Amino acid sequence: MEIVESIESLQQQLAHARAAGKTIAFVPTMGFLHAGHLSLLEEGRRRGDVLVLSIFVNPTQFGQGEDFEDYPRDLQQDCALAEAVGVDLVFAPSSAAMYPRGYATEVNVSGITAGLCGASRPTHFRGVCTVVTKLFNIVQPHVALFGSKDFQQLAVVKRLTQDLNLPIEIIGMPIYREADGLAMSSRNVYLDSEQRRQSLALSQAITLAQDLVKQGEGEVATVIAAVSRHLGAQSLIRSDYVAICHQLTLEPQQRIDKDSVLLIAAFVGQTRLIDNGYLMDLS
Ligand code: AMP
Repeated sequence: MEIVESIESLQQQLAHARAAGKTIAFVPTMGFLHAGHLSLLEEGRRRGDVLVLSIFVNPTQFGQGEDFEDYPRDLQQDCALAEAVGVDLVFAPSSAAMYPRGYATEVNVSGITAGLCGASRPTHFRGVCTVVTKLFNIVQPHVALFGSKDFQQLAVVKRLTQDLNLPIEIIGMPIYREADGLAMSSRNVYLDSEQRRQSLALSQAITLAQDLVKQGEGEVATVIAAVSRHLGAQSLIRSDYVAICHQLTLEPQQRIDKDSVLLIAAFVGQTRLIDNGYLMDLS
């Protein structure tokens, strides 16, 4: 495995691989890898001849007063984990390399970025779309893998890829959870033990909503009220949004159907967590 900081040298190596007829699988991350990231890398390993992992804490997707400075980083440990799952190239550029002096271009996807996380973090998706476009142009992968934990991000990246005619297959991967249900996230390290205990309310609320739907509840408002009550019963949780949307358009729904997804964002103390789940089991 090789760790590459320079954009040019990564591009050279990948040009050789492409010329040799090899397919490239790509997993973009902000590092501090956990088992959720590793599940993406394992699938990437199966789907490409060359597996590229990027580790870049992208400053442009953090808003004022958010946790850019505090975001956990551990490149050494990340590289050990990456090597163990068979990554070929770790791309870990500096901010100065990605956004040199004079940098002036942004990529903006409208519509599906307006609600949910986009409403609470108005500059977030512009930063995500900009960095993902840059990374796609640098790596030029055949397939790129994203987690459905960041459900809106996955939808936005699919939109962007389609709209800009990028010849990249976007693969959405299931949410990887701790044994007790908490969705894995690099930000979980921020939680103290009481916050960690209360954070279970997010995944519990999703199960509760799925159970209500199983019992025949079809009204979005009723399910949202039950979820909000469950979150509100935790003293350290302040919900940011609870929404039930169509899985493709992310438009809010009135009635639950096979396309309904429940999306939650909530602060546990200072830490903002997100989680989601489909409301109908189609299996
Ligand atoms: P991040 O490093 O948080 O930007 O995440 C990098 C990628 O890993 C994104 O595509 C995330 O959706 C994905 N990811 C993060 N947490 C999980 C998880 N618990 N399960 C599956 N994928 C995840």
